[in-house]
Amino acid sequence: MRSLERKSNRRILSILIESSLDQVLPPHCLVCRSRLQDSGKLCGSCWREIRFITKPVCYCLGTPLPYAIDPATLSAAALARKTSYTRARVVGAYDQVLRKLVHDYKFRDKVELTNFFVPLLIQAGAELLREAEQISAVPLNRWRLWSRRYNQSALLAKSLSKECQINYDAFLLKRVKRTRSQIGLTYRQRLKNVSGAFLVPENKSDLVQDKRILLIDDVVTTGSTVEACANALLKSGAKSVDVLAIARVLYPQSN
Ligand SMILES: [Zn+2]
Repeated sequence: MRSLERKSNRRILSILIESSLDQVLPPHCLVCRSRLQDSGKLCGSCWREIRFITKPVCYCLGTPLPYAIDPATLSAAALARKTSYTRARVVGAYDQVLRKLVHDYKFRDKVELTNFFVPLLIQAGAELLREAEQISAVPLNRWRLWSRRYNQSALLAKSLSKECQINYDAFLLKRVKRTRSQIGLTYRQRLKNVSGAFLVPENKSDLVQDKRILLIDDVVTTGSTVEACANALLKSGAKSVDVLAIARVLYPQSN
């Protein structure tokens, strides 16, 4: 416990030093730290490296398609795997620039990146946000929340709710099972791992019943976590569940 405290103190000290430096130093790119005119932005070359995912996309998974006959076109992966959520949309592919930004956001306490991500999410999820009646976020387990001190998906959800005037409740979904790390697991193994890990508390079911829910996550890897969350929301009476995230891991077979 004492070593954890020491670790936490060191982390707080490094954040304080970094934030003081940020105030003294001129604005710089959020990724490569080259000098810029304004703070909180990316330089041109980092910006160009983001692989934005734009239409045409698979109606369900939101993965890029070479072409689509109509907006309801499904990818081969979506046809092979039925999801509980209706649509997932992301800003871009989880590589290079977005990977670095998400990593800083999750593990390096760069909570100010919320302001960078939210306008991108509003653009990527415009159709979903128009229809959403309630926003929810993928919850962290208590241990992870304690060690990180904040849930990055909840920060995004709260800010989106404010920007788009849609209800948000931080406790709509509860993580009731501690799951092992999903790294290295296949989609089926991940699905089994997170199955039954989430539920909607009884006192929150009114907020879910017959509502179109928009679920916020940071990164969609195989989609097993959002699938488990969507299952819990639908079980509690949600009309539909859409998913909006910063990035998605693009596997060769996901198109
Ligand atoms: Zn840069």
